Amino acid sequence: MKKANLIMLGAPGSGKGTRAVALCEVLGIAQVSTGDLFRNNIKEGTELGKLAKSYINKGELVPDGVTAAMVKDRLSKPDTAGGFILDGFPRTLAQAEMLDKILAELGEEISYALYLDVPDAEIIRRISGRMICSECQAPYHREFNPPKSEGICDKCGGKLFTRDDDKPETVKKRLEVFRSTTLPLADFYGARGILVKIPPELSERGAAADMREVAEKLGLCAR
Ligand SMILES: [Zn+2]
Repeated sequence: MKKANLIMLGAPGSGKGTRAVALCEVLGIAQVSTGDLFRNNIKEGTELGKLAKSYINKGELVPDGVTAAMVKDRLSKPDTAGGFILDGFPRTLAQAEMLDKILAELGEEISYALYLDVPDAEIIRRISGRMICSECQAPYHREFNPPKSEGICDKCGGKLFTRDDDKPETVKKRLEVFRSTTLPLADFYGARGILVKIPPELSERGAAADMREVAEKLGLCAR
């Protein structure tokens, strides 16, 4: 049995977040998402949170060193001792090298990098079908969760719209960014022999069933 110190790689719209949550439940390990780290550090007013906020307030990107320090702080907490899934970090090769350093200092290592290998066409189909109610913010999807009457919210009768982020042109741009910055990580972990590609067709059986199968195949131990 192998300890589950995992990284989740996948394009926006690949279902990365859902799969990460499912795997955490299956294995009883901690989910470490950089979005949550930022929110919590800022909310609790930690030194790192204040530092991050000073960059965000200026409209600048938070430097990798600050994010890495938050990740190290989080991975030092006892609930990650039985394993963890990192979601949103690393996103670049430079961050992956920082992560190696952090883990070496903590006496840990990555057991597997899971890559949700979803074709671009499928991602565009998933994301560009999303719609939101302009009144109550209820989410819909043209194909998977359509409203009863077209363009109208079932709950409140409000008008449905597509967020700019979800429009096909924007999705294509986000996929390009993913390909140029994050995809090289697949090669990085692949060269180490710890990359595991998870095909999209598994997703139809539901995230929990998928991830249980992946965990069993990899011999990951549940806590
Ligand atoms: Zn509504």
